[in-house]
Amino acid sequence: MTSTNSIRARKTLDNIQPYSPGKPIWEVQKELGLERVIKLASNENPLGPSPKAVAAIQNGLTELNRYPDADASVLKEAISSKYNVTPKNVITTNGADELITLISEAFLEQGDEIVVPSPSFSEYDFGAHIMGASVVQVPFGEGFRYDVDRLIEAVTEKTKIIYICSPNNPTGTHIPKQDVEKLLNAVSDVLVVFDGAYSQYADAADYTDGMEFVKAGYPIVALQTFSKIYGIAGVRVGFGVAPESIIQSILKVKEPFNVNALAQTAAAAAITDTEHVNASYETNKSGRELFYRKFDEMGLNYTESLANFVLVQLGPDGEKLYQELMASGIIVRYGKTWGLPEHVRVSVGTPEENEFFIEVLSKLMAKQA
Ligand SMILES: *Cc1c(COP(=O)(O)O)cnc(C)c1O
Repeated sequence: MTSTNSIRARKTLDNIQPYSPGKPIWEVQKELGLERVIKLASNENPLGPSPKAVAAIQNGLTELNRYPDADASVLKEAISSKYNVTPKNVITTNGADELITLISEAFLEQGDEIVVPSPSFSEYDFGAHIMGASVVQVPFGEGFRYDVDRLIEAVTEKTKIIYICSPNNPTGTHIPKQDVEKLLNAVSDVLVVFDGAYSQYADAADYTDGMEFVKAGYPIVALQTFSKIYGIAGVRVGFGVAPESIIQSILKVKEPFNVNALAQTAAAAAITDTEHVNASYETNKSGRELFYRKFDEMGLNYTESLANFVLVQLGPDGEKLYQELMASGIIVRYGKTWGLPEHVRVSVGTPEENEFFIEVLSKLMAKQA
């Protein structure tokens, strides 16, 4: 028999780091024998899914013998009327993650470059590596603020895509509207992918979700997801809004039935569920403020966030504290993968979850002192 060792995957795959998701609740419960485990690690909606989405899924169950609508026309209609664009400006995908992969497949050749802020969402790098493109990282300035001039300077003739994540995961910081405009005007031949996964939580006067620049005709894809404020991460729906010619190119690499039927109907319902969105926004805003107040009391550095998570610096014992939080039943995201070994990123939970997290963290910090 021939050895399977002689079967070689593409060279560029050597560059891919496996994605590290937050540990699921059941795993921590099982490993540590804990009854109460709360997950504040994946920026999910702590209030649960949109009830309208749940009802829509229940109604859709009897039609599961049918293939989904390849065009996702009802969902696209709902998205276009919300953003005041046409369905031709919209592509729906199996989570926004799939959109990042499709954009990479549509626009990147081997040897091309993408420009990404750092630290940011790891899927941008993944998309580049599967295509054999390379990643140019641009660090944030003081306080993890966007430095638009550094982003512009990083662009070369090889640059095909610039990613902007705003509010940025994991820092929670945003790029002001006037800097987006400056960037777009400075780099006319480069596609800008504007990731607004957390846009619905953002409350700064100079915030933009990028949609206005799509409508103004710039080469920009405004990326969105149903996994965060809409609370349906489990069914996987994301979408992009862009000028029609860009959408046409991305559609060429999309599989026909990429968004399943239940996901389509759930998302179309969730996007109209203003009650759930508003409640989620308010819960998040007060949770964030509680974190700031308590971190101040504990003397911890943190970055003010426009999203549903806060990056906090626990100090040189960051890893130990992360482990101790886990042992107490609290899953947060450890910052080492972003080059921030003293930090953790904590998602805002329900008021009860937030109190529990703060209570445990204060005790651990007190023990340290
Ligand atoms: C969660 C997230 C997404 C969306 O992911 P889905 O694949 O839609 O679940 C996109 N971008 C960022 C920065 C995120 O944090």
